[in-house]
Amino acid sequence: MRIDFITIFFKQIRYQVLIIMLIIVKVCLFSNVYAQKEEQYTLKTVVIDAGHGGKDPGTNGKVAKEKDIALAIAIKLGTYIEENIPDVKVIYTRTTDVFIPLSERADIANKNNADLFISIHLNGNKDSRAYGTETFAMGLHKTKGNLEVAKLENSAILFEEDYSTQYEGFDPQSAESYIMFSFLQNTYLEQSLNYAAFVEHEFKNKALRKSRGVKQAGFLVLWKTTMPSVLIEAGFLSNPREERYLRSTEGQEFIASAIYRAFKDYKAAIEEKSHFITKIETPEIQEDTSKIFFKVQIASSKNSVERNPESFKGLENVEEIKINDIYKYTVGSFTNYTNIVNYKKSIEKFYPDAFIIAIEKDGKLIPLNEAININQN
Ligand SMILES: [Zn+2]
Repeated sequence: MRIDFITIFFKQIRYQVLIIMLIIVKVCLFSNVYAQKEEQYTLKTVVIDAGHGGKDPGTNGKVAKEKDIALAIAIKLGTYIEENIPDVKVIYTRTTDVFIPLSERADIANKNNADLFISIHLNGNKDSRAYGTETFAMGLHKTKGNLEVAKLENSAILFEEDYSTQYEGFDPQSAESYIMFSFLQNTYLEQSLNYAAFVEHEFKNKALRKSRGVKQAGFLVLWKTTMPSVLIEAGFLSNPREERYLRSTEGQEFIASAIYRAFKDYKAAIEEKSHFITKIETPEIQEDTSKIFFKVQIASSKNSVERNPESFKGLENVEEIKINDIYKYTVGSFTNYTNIVNYKKSIEKFYPDAFIIAIEKDGKLIPLNEAININQN
């Protein structure tokens, strides 16, 4: 009897061991699957580029030099990221008052496999009343004003000795030189515009600056970067009031923390965290000379629907167009077809069946082919 009992006891233990082993195997398999699911893109490295430096002062205010203010904001931004998101590696193109060629700034980002390149600048204008912030992605300018900003910033290469070979004969002052940007295939345009929209959103809503919007122009410093890249004009040093604000520690902290929060939100968005939906915003690109606008139709209804983000999966700036007693709901508004295609991709996750429509200024729907032809000419 005793022996039997011991045998049964060991048998039971063996069963238990077997069950435990099975559980371990199962957990391992399961966590393996889980681990595969978790394996997703993470933003690891950011390059922060303080514009100008050394012999190139950038734009001058009455007192302030662009190179100093840009550096102060850049270092504050980097510090916020390092303190609050320690997993992210912060690389600066400069931390002191030194001259660095534009192409070298892009090289630094490329060599470090950066996930995002943020170039920080301050604006200048002959008209001292001009004020506010604007954030640029690489591309062909849509307005003369945007071209002027790019001309001013690209003139930094005139401080470089071999600029004409380094930039393939590019003349920063000649409008013709900028035509090459219209043929540019910009793989990272969509993400660059997304981050730019986050930045302008923060400037406007948290730092309470006047946002002049998200724009595109041909900036040499963004030209050869191989990652999403933006150039931020954080305000006008030519405007005395704005210069005062930008010179103050408080002003610089507001600007840097707005760029930081935009970074945090953008990072979460591309890593597909939940608050992407509530934060995505339509980039407001200046293109009001055109008569036809491309928009993305996300929904339609016989009755008018209240246009708050909650009704539209968190999308802001939803427009309502009434055509033949049907209400159409659209987001985005571009005159450039490529831009609307890119924009559509960015919201496809929420509206997989969304499609592009073309609307004339008077609100009439026109066939897409026709619209593309008209706007190309
Ligand atoms: Zn600049």
